[in-house]
This record gives sequence, structure tokens and C-alpha cells, in this order.
Amino acid sequence: MDKPRIYGSWAGNPQGHKEDPSKCIESVLGNERGAIAHQCDRKRGHGADGLYCKQHDPEVAKARRAAIQKKYNDKWAEKQKTWDLEKLRKVICDLAKEVVKTGMISEEFIASVKELQQSE
Ligand SMILES: [Zn+2]
Repeated sequence: MDKPRIYGSWAGNPQGHKEDPSKCIESVLGNERGAIAHQCDRKRGHGADGLYCKQHDPEVAKARRAAIQKKYNDKWAEKQKTWDLEKLRKVICDLAKEVVKTGMISEEFIASVKELQQSE
């Protein structure tokens, strides 16, 4: 085995804690404020070379990140739909105002609507 990993070394404890070869190699932070990194407390046996616990298995972590990314993308797409609706609402509102004010629709306005259609 390579040199044992060191966890939670800092100015007050430059030696830190040596790796426990039965545990997952992931370095984790406690929830407390000013927490010092320590080795994950779970048993290893997952991931490449079985160095990780189930939760920190890089493949699992990757899948988790991908799932979060997908959720974000979906949310973003949903938000954009809302934006399009808001844009449309504004266009209709502007159109109504213009018709009320001038009794007609300007070429300029028609052009801006066409532009909006093309952006979809
Ligand atoms: Zn772990």
C-alpha cells in the first residue's frame, strides 16, 4: 500500500490523523462550525479498488451529480417557458396599448413580433 493518507492536518495538529485502511478514503467535514476534515467513518469496499464506502463511490457520486444537473436543467427549461409566457404577455399588453393609443399597429411593432417568433 502507498503511504497512508493524512486527514485533518492543520496548524494545531500538523500530523493530522492517519488513514484507517478499513474505512472509506473520502475526506469529510463534520457539521460543526470550524470542522476539521476527517476520514469517512464508513467501511470501504466500493468504487475503484474498493477504497470507498457506498455513498462515496465515485460512480455513485457521479450519478448523483448527473441527477442534480438534470433536475437543474429541467427547472431551467421550465423557467424559460415562464419567461416566454411573460414575454408574450408583455407583447400583447404593448400591442393593446399601441392600438388604443394610435388606432393602428406600426410596422415597427410587427417587426418586433416577427423577431420574437423567429427566436423560438
Ligand atoms: Zn465514505
